[in-house]
Amino acid sequence: MARLASRLTADGLLPGATFIASPNCDQRPADTPVVLVVVHAISLPPGEFGGDGIERLFTNRLDSQAHPYYRDIHALRVSAHFLIRRDGSVLQFVRCGERAWHAGVSQWRDRQRCNDFSIGIELEGCDELPFEPAQYTVLARLIRVLRRSYALEDIVGHADIAPGRKTDPGPCFDWPRLRELLRD
Ligand SMILES: [Zn+2]
Repeated sequence: MARLASRLTADGLLPGATFIASPNCDQRPADTPVVLVVVHAISLPPGEFGGDGIERLFTNRLDSQAHPYYRDIHALRVSAHFLIRRDGSVLQFVRCGERAWHAGVSQWRDRQRCNDFSIGIELEGCDELPFEPAQYTVLARLIRVLRRSYALEDIVGHADIAPGRKTDPGPCFDWPRLRELLRD
């Protein structure tokens, strides 16, 4: 499990996470504070854990020949700020001050383009299997760190802001468990 620092650095990195810079990011619009955390789930190939497919996808190095599924997705230009692996280790791909490309077409309350004002956190997982206890522990820790830097108003799933288009983090994600871990 990752031993995370209690604060982000001034340039938006989280000590304790392994930083692998993704080119799939840009600047947030001016005067647009982060108020939202978006929880995602991903596994590559789908349903398989522990490989390097996710970090390859987020750094545009996915080999289209390595798996049939990759033919459809290898050219996507996507990222997230963080990935929490099954063992609770954490990778960071985008500095928190920058805009990661994780939510796509999305809406939270009356606001579109959630990437502008959110932090995207991927959990290595799928719709069919429970997430690991270490992932909940680390996710809660990470959100507590983010709260020190940002006045977060909500924590939502990707499916909540892109209904009909996305299902993640999926039916196995235990929201009450996360809320309990985040209670002060
Ligand atoms: Zn997602």
